[in-house]
Amino acid sequence: TFKAIMVSRDEDKKQSVTIEDITVDDLMDGDVVVRVEATTVNYKDGLAITGKSPVVRRWPMIPGVDFCGTVLSSSHAKWKAGDKVILNGWGVGETHYGAYAQQARVNGDWLIALPDGMTPTDAMAIGTAGYTAMLSVLALENAGITPDTGPILVTGANGGVGSVSISLLAKLGYHVIASTGRTSEEAFLKSLGAAEILDRAELSEPGRPLGKERWAGAIDSVGSTTLANVLAQTQYYGAVAACGLAQGMDLPASVAPFILRGVSLHGIDSVMAPIALREKAWTRLSTELDAGKLASIATKIGFDDIIETAHGILEGKVRGRVVVDMAA
Ligand code: NAP
Repeated sequence: TFKAIMVSRDEDKKQSVTIEDITVDDLMDGDVVVRVEATTVNYKDGLAITGKSPVVRRWPMIPGVDFCGTVLSSSHAKWKAGDKVILNGWGVGETHYGAYAQQARVNGDWLIALPDGMTPTDAMAIGTAGYTAMLSVLALENAGITPDTGPILVTGANGGVGSVSISLLAKLGYHVIASTGRTSEEAFLKSLGAAEILDRAELSEPGRPLGKERWAGAIDSVGSTTLANVLAQTQYYGAVAACGLAQGMDLPASVAPFILRGVSLHGIDSVMAPIALREKAWTRLSTELDAGKLASIATKIGFDDIIETAHGILEGKVRGRVVVDMAA
């Protein structure tokens, strides 16, 4: 047997979270069984464990949307026992039993190989948040943004997506403006490569449809009024990657930035992104993310700390990324 975190619902839809001993026979269908060596706690995992938003769509559920580990058995053509693999998304931890168990059984089509030189702990220090940051950087590059185009704003700067975005952009030579509600973390954000700090209060209240042009592009994990203000202050023919909703799901914006400044808005979805795009993102993460910065972003915890950390991430108490060492 091995340990698993199980979220369940009673007849009144009241959610409970327990740690249970299960066997591989209790896992859901799939053609690859993986020994989970490392996982992480994303904002989404916080939502699943607390039940604050409807992330879980099948009951009971083992949450956890990211894992890295070693294949124990496989009937999938691409994988054999001993292969090191990463999984991000695909509904794992939402509709299919997820990462918060010492073993997982999944569809082999969902896996990618752990890049050379990367450890399971590195991969989970990156996790869906870091891979989403890379997808966002790729979207800005595809829109023609380069370090010469102008500064890039990163909102939710102390969060997982935000902190990895800052590190990646700084390494690529961009002038990064970090927007945060935790300006006390200025030294940390500057150590990641932020050139300027902006108090997020400047962006969180309703503003004008167009403002002064302040950045060539942005990676926004906040949504809502913040994203509307980000768009309104993006320079001519700039681009914004929208990947999150930490402030809200709404977007109270006008078309002015699009039709008067040619600004473009790029949607980022990590969950169902095609394999080729994932492989491209992970290859670039393995070469372009500074190992020292990654270590400074990551906090290590053990399996027994997952539930408490899930509550903490929703309370805005978690800085950067969390790595769970499943053996600890
Ligand atoms: P996280 O670590 O909790 O970071 C979110 C950050 O947003 C916080 O650290 C905080 O940064 C800021 N924030 C929180 N509440 C806010 C508010 N009310 N107004 C303005 N800023 C606020 O979460 P994460 O894992 O990085 O995820 C960030 C967002 O991206 C989430 O909404 C998540 O669901 C989404 N996401 C989407 C995808 C995708 O595929 N599209 C993938 C991963 C994550 P400061 O303290 O620095 O202000």
